[in-house]
Amino acid sequence: MRPYQKYFCAIAISLLAVSPSKAQLLVAPKLHIKAEVGSGRVALTLDACGGRTDTRILSALVENKIPATIFVTGIWLKHNAAAVEIMRAHPELFELENHGGRHVPAVDTPQKIYGIRSAGSPEAVLAEVESGAAALAVTGEPAPKWFRGATAEYSPSAIAMIRKLGFKIAGFSINGDGGSLLGAKETARRIAAAKDGDVIIAHINQPTHAAGEGVVQGLLALKAKGLTFVRLDDADCVGNQGTTD
Ligand SMILES: [Zn+2]
Repeated sequence: MRPYQKYFCAIAISLLAVSPSKAQLLVAPKLHIKAEVGSGRVALTLDACGGRTDTRILSALVENKIPATIFVTGIWLKHNAAAVEIMRAHPELFELENHGGRHVPAVDTPQKIYGIRSAGSPEAVLAEVESGAAALAVTGEPAPKWFRGATAEYSPSAIAMIRKLGFKIAGFSINGDGGSLLGAKETARRIAAAKDGDVIIAHINQPTHAAGEGVVQGLLALKAKGLTFVRLDDADCVGNQGTTD
């Protein structure tokens, strides 16, 4: 290599190393319940990102005794005391877990995911995870063991960091409501298609969206088929991308 080529290579490499805006490749981890012979078990996970509570879903869960793992943020907890009270009144149904303090994606470089600005640094990822856990502690709930970041996408380095804090990271295997943006019919179809071992994700914080109606329909269809619902803590869950091992 000629000297000037070496020089430009060195510049290119150093630029790569310091460039703060270099977008990382993100991962969207999967999660399954370990299969058990003869059982038809699915896990329902519902995100409460912010906003309000979809009482269509909450009432249906209580009335039909369907257990669920609810991922709550600090923001949501602040504005939904009545819903939290209902969940706490049914500890046999609801497991509350950590969806972060402010609902910022657990990505430690500055970038946007579905239009949402990432945490942007290791310190900010840490703050998001720890403030989410702290907000849950205030409600008197048991300490969370699972974390799911906003958008459910992560940088691999953030995954390693969150695991070091002692949390398992909750992926999923069925995207039930497409971020709560799907219609009722498609949402119901996706959820009703769940099979033994699946982990469903949907939202419980969009009371005005049609998807919520579909969540209820899909869950009732699964129940009618004889599937049983388990919470993440009640089952042996296996995630990829280093999220549970
Ligand atoms: Zn969310």
